[in-house]
Amino acid sequence: MNGMNESGSPGETMPESGPGAAMPARGTDAAESARESSEAAPEPERYSRQVRFAPIGRAGQEKLGNSRVLIVGMGALGSAIAQHLARVGVGRIAFVDRDVVELSNLQRQQLCDEEDARQMLPKAEAAARKLARINSEIELAPLVGDVTPRNAEALLAGVDLVLDGTDNIATRLLISDVCFKRGVPFVYGGAIASRGMSAVFVPGRTCCLRCLIGRPEATGESCETVGVLGMTADVTASLQAVEALKWLSGNRDAVQGTMITFDLWDRRFRELPLPPPDPACPVCSRRRFPALEEDAEDAVVLCGRNMVQVRTEGTFDLDVWAERLAPFARIERNAFLLRASLAEGETLVLFPDGRVLVRGTGDPGRARSLVARYIGA
Ligand SMILES: [Zn+2]
Repeated sequence: MNGMNESGSPGETMPESGPGAAMPARGTDAAESARESSEAAPEPERYSRQVRFAPIGRAGQEKLGNSRVLIVGMGALGSAIAQHLARVGVGRIAFVDRDVVELSNLQRQQLCDEEDARQMLPKAEAAARKLARINSEIELAPLVGDVTPRNAEALLAGVDLVLDGTDNIATRLLISDVCFKRGVPFVYGGAIASRGMSAVFVPGRTCCLRCLIGRPEATGESCETVGVLGMTADVTASLQAVEALKWLSGNRDAVQGTMITFDLWDRRFRELPLPPPDPACPVCSRRRFPALEEDAEDAVVLCGRNMVQVRTEGTFDLDVWAERLAPFARIERNAFLLRASLAEGETLVLFPDGRVLVRGTGDPGRARSLVARYIGA
């Protein structure tokens, strides 16, 4: 097991090794000294209002400080969740996102601004900068990249809880599978248009996400086609964050075993029981984890957008590629990525981890052929 026991004593739930190996951690010294000083001053001013909230109290606050979470996806949901968890004092927040801040994100994604879009910052980096200003006493571990069958288990090592900020079902099923393999609760959330839903899947206690949705048909609905309101994402993220707060502060019996769905525009909320584990579910009945047996797709369309991510073998030295692509494209770059605007109209965004975002097409075939032509991978 991963050390996630019902008593939740901090010493046992906090293995020293964790995703820190895979992610550069920030604020470690500050977080350590905050932990030491919190023993001397048990009710710091910063958290006084929530310490006075009876179900949390000093004991719950201390547990929060010793907790580690992973947030997958730092769009509207992930950034709202991260902001809440940073403010409540969760000791270590790791987060992963593969995308770059754009102007169209600012309507709903609270941790990015116009300057981040101008600087072409990855969302994880933009979020890390804001979160460090919100709470310098916690440890932040941003990762610009993907969650794949190859790295998912390493990312989850030592984590007490995983929160869903993704925009696609394949990644959600992967996270759910790994969470159930490792015995880690998974706080699911989804938001589109004015509709949202959330549920907490707890291994050994509830069904998994796979039981609930099986193999879903594509609906053709995405944030690109039908839009999404920032308020929908906020409410969904708050529903997720409060369940995380309960679990991490030791109020595990208060975690809801139901699924909530709502439509903010029509102001309708519905709460439904989660179904029991499905006897046909490979995860719940046979402890088989299909998402971990699959190879990650080499080219995926990002959430119904005019953008395809192509994964190449190996990594990119951005300096080398800036020179190589200069004859064919207008080059812009920063410490995190290289953007090459091609004469054909599309834009290639290269990341050091070997990913290429092809902007300007939603066709994986076209994206692959552009990557083959200019990068040869
Ligand atoms: Zn299941």
